[in-house]
Amino acid sequence: MQAILDHLKASTSSILSDVETLVRLESPSTDATHINLVQDTLEAWLKPFGEITRTPHNLGDILHCRIPGSLSKRVVLLAHADTVYSVGAWKSGLWRIEGDQAFGPGGYDMKAGIVQAIWAIRTLKTLNLEPSCTIDFLITPDEEIASHAGRPHIEALATGASAVLVLEPPHLNGDLKVARKGVGMYTVKVFGKAAHQGTEPENGRNAIVSAAHFIAEVVKLQNLTLGTTLGPNVIHGGSVTNVVADEVKLEVDIRVWTLAEAERIEREIRLIQPLEGTRFEITDGLNRPPMEPTPGSMAILEKAQKIANEIGFHPGAARVGGGSDGNFTATIAPTLDGFGAFGKNAHQKDLEFITISELAPRTALLAGLLLEL
Ligand SMILES: [Zn+2]
Repeated sequence: MQAILDHLKASTSSILSDVETLVRLESPSTDATHINLVQDTLEAWLKPFGEITRTPHNLGDILHCRIPGSLSKRVVLLAHADTVYSVGAWKSGLWRIEGDQAFGPGGYDMKAGIVQAIWAIRTLKTLNLEPSCTIDFLITPDEEIASHAGRPHIEALATGASAVLVLEPPHLNGDLKVARKGVGMYTVKVFGKAAHQGTEPENGRNAIVSAAHFIAEVVKLQNLTLGTTLGPNVIHGGSVTNVVADEVKLEVDIRVWTLAEAERIEREIRLIQPLEGTRFEITDGLNRPPMEPTPGSMAILEKAQKIANEIGFHPGAARVGGGSDGNFTATIAPTLDGFGAFGKNAHQKDLEFITISELAPRTALLAGLLLEL
């Protein structure tokens, strides 16, 4: 491990400059033109290592690089090229370094994670340490907006893989992520009946009042002990103040640790009764199933911890509320998340940063693990 770590430490400024290159190519979700510029760069970087497949999509291309190994075992590296920031959103500039911290849109989530993985592969090649597994490196265009484009590719590659390593950042304390909540959103439309609020209010059926009743009931489905939460966080409705409101649209965030809880909510949310004369239309639901730890994922964690200890850090096992594309693969193949860059402030414009001195050890961890899987 020492040779790998030394090589990466000596390469830190090149690693950082690759992160800067990707960060300067701002790539908000749905902006296919900008996302494809990132994919062009990654394709050029990955080309020397394996066979590239690019699948066009109107949200941006899906980029896949297969790096063949000597054994039939296969490891999937999962990443996304999109960020949550619109072009020009960062008023503080696209790239700035303050001490050990490098700030830029999407550097932490997750362009530095992609760069680390490329450097892990590059370093192994340079040191003639060929991993025995085949590596499937997948970079999708739409993780931040529910992964409709990426999901089929993610699931297909995970099928039959011996491990899926997700290049999202580790937990804030540096832990690897063994569990993520299942995440989704219910869209609830409430239909009432419009009427003049002054002349015939008795003929109206108020959708806002019925929505208020729904909200009061839906939060009762929470089970905080089990970590099940329901957040009615968006509401639009009514027209003008002298008309009885006839339509409301609600969006309710749902998060669960287990599939059993997701199924309970799916059942019980539909049992909530609308007030008389109004009607609920409930659509959507769980988008990402929960990523629950499995014997397979815990075995990878153990290997990763041993390697990290050799390098000089001690990651634990984190359980986090936010979802990632690892949620899709956890039931298909042993999945471990958090192999990206160390840093802070994901999704916070002008504030998101990576920790420069952690680039080499975190990359070394991934390189070491690719040799062991
Ligand atoms: Zn991410």
